[in-house]
Amino acid sequence: PAQNKHDIAAIAKLFDMRADFVHAHPYGSGHINDTYCAYYDQAGQRIRYIHQRLSTEAFKKPIELMENVQRVTEHALNELLKSGDKEARRRTLTCIPSVEGTPHAIDADGNCWRTYPFIERARTYDTIESEAQAMEAARAFGEFQKLTATLPGKPLHETIPGFHNTKQRFQHLEDAIAADTHGRAAEVQKEIEWFMARKDEASIVVDLLESGELPLRVTHNDTKLNNVMLDDVTGEGVCVIDLDTTMPGSAIYDFGDMVRTATSPVAEDEEDTSKITMRMFMFEALVKGYLSSAKEFLTDKEVSLLAFSGKLLTMECGSRFLTDYLKGDVYFKVHKDRHNLIRTRSQMALAESIEAQMSEMEALVAKYR
Ligand code: ADP
Ligand code: MG
Ligand code: MG
Repeated sequence: PAQNKHDIAAIAKLFDMRADFVHAHPYGSGHINDTYCAYYDQAGQRIRYIHQRLSTEAFKKPIELMENVQRVTEHALNELLKSGDKEARRRTLTCIPSVEGTPHAIDADGNCWRTYPFIERARTYDTIESEAQAMEAARAFGEFQKLTATLPGKPLHETIPGFHNTKQRFQHLEDAIAADTHGRAAEVQKEIEWFMARKDEASIVVDLLESGELPLRVTHNDTKLNNVMLDDVTGEGVCVIDLDTTMPGSAIYDFGDMVRTATSPVAEDEEDTSKITMRMFMFEALVKGYLSSAKEFLTDKEVSLLAFSGKLLTMECGSRFLTDYLKGDVYFKVHKDRHNLIRTRSQMALAESIEAQMSEMEALVAKYR
C-alpha cells in the first residue's frame, strides 16, 4: 500500500471526531486533492471517515470554497431530512467541523483540510461501464441541482472565476493565436479556422445568462461519473461528491459536460478520431436520468438547450486544449508530443459527431421532457 504523505493522526486531532483514530491510508483515484480513508474506533465500532487536503494549486481560496461546501451540504441535508428520507446522511456529503467549529482546519504546514463521513456500501467508477450507470449518474446530478435550487442567502463564491465563460475562453484562444509565443499557430490553421467558425455559437449561453433568459443556479461543474457514488447492491446514484467547483452557473454546463465525458467510447486523448463518436444510446440514458429528477425545475429555455449543451461544452474544452497548445502546454499536463493538439482534435471530432446528430438528439429530449 502507498505511504501516507501526511501525518493523519495529527490531522484527526484538528477535527471534532468524537472517536479514536486508529489508522489511515491514501484513498481513491482523484487527481486534484490528497484523499485519505481513516479508521476510527467509536464505542467499539470501527467507522471510516475521509480526510482531504485541498489542492491549493487548483483552489486559491480554500476557505471560501469550504464555506460554499458547508452551506450546500447543510442545506441538502435539511431538505432530505424534511422530505423524510431515511438515508439522508448517505445522500449528501456532510462536513465534520474542526475543533474550532469551522468546516476546514489548517495544519502546522499551512495545508487546508476537511473531513467527511465515509459513504459506505457505494463506490465511484472511473469509466462508464453501462447505460444504467450513465442514467443513474445523470439522475443524481439532477437531484443535486434540485436540492441546491432552494439554497437561501447570498450567492455562492465563484471559486474559479469565469470557469465556463465560453466567450472569454474563445477570447483567450484568439489572444494565444495573436501572441503565438511558441510559433505553433501556422501548423494548426485548420483547427483555428474550425473554432473561429463556431465563435458565435460559443457565446449563446453566456449571452442568455447575461440577459436573464437563462437562470443562474447552483451547479456542480465537474459532472463526471467518478464524482457520483453508486450503491454497491442496487447501482443507484446515492450521492454526488467532489463539490470543489460548486458555484453559480447554468444547468446547461452540468448536463453538457456529462454528454462530453460520458457518450464517447474512447478516452479524451484518443488519436484515432474515427473511433470518436457521440453514442445516441448513452445520450438517451443521460437525458432520461437527468430529466427524471430535473424536469420539474428546469425552464423551457434550459430544456431546449440540452442537446446543444453537449456541443458547447465539447467546444469549450477543445478551445482550452488548443489555447494551451499554442501557449506551450502550461496548464494541462502533457505526456507525449503534441498531446494538447491530439486532445483538441478529439474534442473537435466529438463536437462534429454531435453536430451531425443534433436533430435526433433534440427529438430525444422532447420525448422525455
Ligand atoms: P478529487 O477532486 O481529487 O477527484 P474527490 O472528492 O472526487 O477528489 O475524492 C476522490 C475519491 O475519494 C472519490 O472518487 C471517491 O472514490 C472517494 N471519496 C471522496 N469522498 C468520499 C466519501 N465521503 N465517502 C467515500 N468515498 C469518498
Ligand atoms: Mg473527483
Ligand atoms: Mg475535484
